[in-house]
Amino acid sequence: LSDQNVAHPAKWPTAASQGMIDPATEKFVTDLMAQMTLEEKVGQMIQADIGAMKPEDLRQYPLGSILAGGSSPPLGAPDRSPQAAWVATSQAFRKVAMEPRGKHQPIPLLFGIDAVHGNSNVVGATVFPHNIGLGAMRDPALMRRIGKATAEETAATGPEWAFGPTLTVPQDDRWGRAYEGYSEDPAVVRSYAGEMVRGLQGEPGTKNRIQQGYVAASAKHFLGDGGTLNGVDQGDAQISEDALIAIHAQGYVPAIDAGTLTVMASFSSWNGAKMHGNKSLLTDVLKGRMGFQGFVVGDWNGHGQVTGCTTTDCAATFNAGLDMAMAPDGWKGLFESTVAHVKDGTIPMSRIDDAVRRILRVKAKLGLFDPARPYEGKAGVMGNAEHRAIAREAVAKSLVLLKNQGVLPIKASANVLVAGPGADSMGQQTGGWTLSWQGDGNSNGDFPNGQTIFSGIAEAVKAGGGTATLSADGSFTAKPDVAIVVFGEQPYAEMRGDIATLEFQPGDKQALATLKKLKAAGVPVVSVFLSGRPLWVNPEINASDAFVAAWLPGSEGAGVADVLIGDKAGKPRRDFKGTLSFSWPKTAGQFTLNKGTPGYDPLFALGYGLSYAKPGKVAMLGEEPGFDASALNTSVYFEKGVPPKPFSFATESKITRAPIDGPQTQEGAQQLSWTGGQARLSIGGGTPINLGRETNGDLSLALTYRLDRAATGPVMLGMGNGKGLDATSLFTGETGKWRTVKILL
Ligand code: BGC
Repeated sequence: LSDQNVAHPAKWPTAASQGMIDPATEKFVTDLMAQMTLEEKVGQMIQADIGAMKPEDLRQYPLGSILAGGSSPPLGAPDRSPQAAWVATSQAFRKVAMEPRGKHQPIPLLFGIDAVHGNSNVVGATVFPHNIGLGAMRDPALMRRIGKATAEETAATGPEWAFGPTLTVPQDDRWGRAYEGYSEDPAVVRSYAGEMVRGLQGEPGTKNRIQQGYVAASAKHFLGDGGTLNGVDQGDAQISEDALIAIHAQGYVPAIDAGTLTVMASFSSWNGAKMHGNKSLLTDVLKGRMGFQGFVVGDWNGHGQVTGCTTTDCAATFNAGLDMAMAPDGWKGLFESTVAHVKDGTIPMSRIDDAVRRILRVKAKLGLFDPARPYEGKAGVMGNAEHRAIAREAVAKSLVLLKNQGVLPIKASANVLVAGPGADSMGQQTGGWTLSWQGDGNSNGDFPNGQTIFSGIAEAVKAGGGTATLSADGSFTAKPDVAIVVFGEQPYAEMRGDIATLEFQPGDKQALATLKKLKAAGVPVVSVFLSGRPLWVNPEINASDAFVAAWLPGSEGAGVADVLIGDKAGKPRRDFKGTLSFSWPKTAGQFTLNKGTPGYDPLFALGYGLSYAKPGKVAMLGEEPGFDASALNTSVYFEKGVPPKPFSFATESKITRAPIDGPQTQEGAQQLSWTGGQARLSIGGGTPINLGRETNGDLSLALTYRLDRAATGPVMLGMGNGKGLDATSLFTGETGKWRTVKILL
């Protein structure tokens, strides 16, 4: 670490980990720890993925935590699993964990899940809008209610821990995780963070115990995940300490004040040093200056990216202050190497004891040592009417009206044509982190309690004597009074979601064609735009009479109809309330357009949003994107559709790329990490291959590898530009021999 990435704690804000320390809990933990072996202590510090471990493994490897979803379905359960399957799986693990061992009482497992917009990995859950939409509401009180509903649906599924809230403050809208942030504005993030933690965990200090139906929160990703250069996922935040504090740290103070039980370390680096190895930030700032008393969990194999580390061996991350490593598939190796590092003195026992104390403190706060768990498997919680009403309210409040030339609200007695690929698509309206990692392929049947946008509109106009007709491409037989066209981005999540420019669908103008066709036929057109970030859509805005940014609204499409469809006489039933929490670009090249940046010149500024009460006119907009859309982002990853059993291989590759600032070669050790439904090929100390943005598509990947075990199903090599390559042939055929392939992208 250099001066550039060592923090000066005195500059940082202080916080108070409220309700976290009480003498009775501390004594309980002290007594328990006195009876634990080194192996049991190290076990507490490691989390495995549910798809990469069997319950019986816990006898030999007494791990502390299980990642119960994010990517993998529960063990032995089908890919789309309802509540009961999750409960059965977690109970199979709990049963083994609670078998008698050693001198002390059994130590319960802690299950964590990516409940980042509702408990969205579970079929039938209530799916709330993604954070970008929630930011547009500017409604902290509603955030707390969303947190509580999310906690209840998570606890009812089994996990006692939600990996949220995401407190990132995205500064470059090309980042594929921008939508996981409430806002580009730290003030908005600050106003939400504590409320979300209180929603998930309940009031800090309530009888010093998290009550039933609440779960542990995880404020993530600490720190600077939204500040990486060029918005590259898992990239490097090349910013000053002052910017780190003023922008990226703002949500953490209220989250810690509200007693967040855990904080997740970021994949990203700060001025070249991976956060998972940054002692000054994890220990001196977070635990020292900010007084955080819970535990720091790592991100998915994030420790393996620290210099000198692999996914199965990383003393440096624990010494830097990480308390629990997320080692989805490498848990066994990491367990063994960590025990060895304590024995040889590389990791001091005092560090292990500090980490284990924090973990057991959290488990005790969660009441895990009490045998009764009335919430797990509780009926009537998943997708119940109360939670859906909260989500619907959030959807209605999150919509931002960017343009309205007299067409909205629509009379409930009107004949409405509902068109566009997103009109009747639960998958598109829920986005990433929904049932699967990237969120693709979800069907309307996955959330049987929810409603698509079309279904919400149909219900609203039916009540007013109107009609709603669904038509994917906007064609019609009888001329409608008005058309609502729902279109936008297809689902994506981390890694795959990074883009090169902010132009919406460069080269694919299908939605625009639909809008123009309807306009030409004399039908007034309302665009409902589904996206995880503001995008350059000037031609689409010009071709619409009204344009609504609906973000990724989740399972309650009826919330859109509540605002768009008025009563029979055309009076609004509900006004627009949302205002932009991200600035909207005037050109496709305004990647880092944030309020306060020099030369701030947006199309719609932060805080912009029309309403029925405050209408406004939008003039014709320029239709040149202002940035060369051929500059494609290219990143390589292995995607789903991989074989059901891990194949294995060793590699020695060389990647040549020509980035914006001249050619570079990236070499290094590669690793294929495997778990459940996904595999990630890592290069250079474990960093997933993410080659950044290319200006000329001139990228070659020379992969030299030896297949140790052949794939038994299709393997896809995916690219950030949305294209996929069938790479099955590379991973099948003769084993045991080195081969080289060159992939030109
Ligand atoms: C993401 C985290 C997530 C974790 C577990 C990681 O890749 O960065 O946000 O909580 O996976 O699924």
